[in-house]
Amino acid sequence: MADQKTAIVTGGGRGIGAAIGKRLAADGLAVALLDLNDDDATSTAASITEAGGKAIGLKVDVADEQSVASAVAAVTEQLGAPTVLVNNAGILRDNLLFKMSVDDWDMVLGVHLRGAFLMSREVQKHMVEAKWGRIVNLSSSSALGNRGQVNYAAAKAGMQGFTKTLAIELGPFGVTANAIAPGLIQTAMTETTAARLKMPFDDFLAEASKGIPVRRVGQPDDIAAVASFFASEGAGFVSGQVLYVAGGPLD
Ligand code: NAD
Repeated sequence: MADQKTAIVTGGGRGIGAAIGKRLAADGLAVALLDLNDDDATSTAASITEAGGKAIGLKVDVADEQSVASAVAAVTEQLGAPTVLVNNAGILRDNLLFKMSVDDWDMVLGVHLRGAFLMSREVQKHMVEAKWGRIVNLSSSSALGNRGQVNYAAAKAGMQGFTKTLAIELGPFGVTANAIAPGLIQTAMTETTAARLKMPFDDFLAEASKGIPVRRVGQPDDIAAVASFFASEGAGFVSGQVLYVAGGPLD
């Protein structure tokens, strides 16, 4: 496809990122899955290729400036200049404030915020050149505050201000920026939360479902559907928004 757009999804090896990558590939984009875990990135890319899509998996550490520059250059060479960026890579290092180490604070802020900054700064030049782009950032319902997540909540609230500022600065170049703030989504990440609370994962999910208006937890595809919308041509007048995707209202 001559005019096929290229998308980058960070943390695309598994979980929500993998679902977004698969969805964008099904939407017709060439997809680069960038992940610290290159085995996961490669195998997810292979499953997209087997399903008839176009995808590659590459290793990146989004918090490392040189790694980001090399990965984006490799994507540009292999798939064409990226004009869709999904900043999805993330980690948890949960603890109560009085027990939280400086490393746990720095790592979480580093992957989420510094990572989204480095990736967006690197990819925006291709978007500005094309006079078209879509940036989708993963925030979280934890941005509203969550016990044991002072680092993660700060990072995810930061993603919202970051998104709105990208929307203002890049809008004149045809680039939109929006954030998705998921509630509880069933992935390996939330499995670690259940383990921290010493609960079997199924019990944790069943218990959480009771408090969600639609009476279920979210699946990665619930988030992929929203990312697909924000990345679409038709969403060109939607920018600087934060959409909570949590099976009910949150604010
Ligand atoms: P996950 O742990 O399953 O996947 C995260 C991916 O990011 C992994 O493949 C991991 O290797 C990758 N990654 C971590 N550090 C990286 C780095 N420095 N560079 C590149 N890749 C890195 O998590 P998930 O549940 O799929 O979450 C995806 C995103 O959604 C995260 O930003 C998370 O904070 C956010 N989120 C998740 C939930 C949820 O309930 N699962 C809720 C709200 C927001």
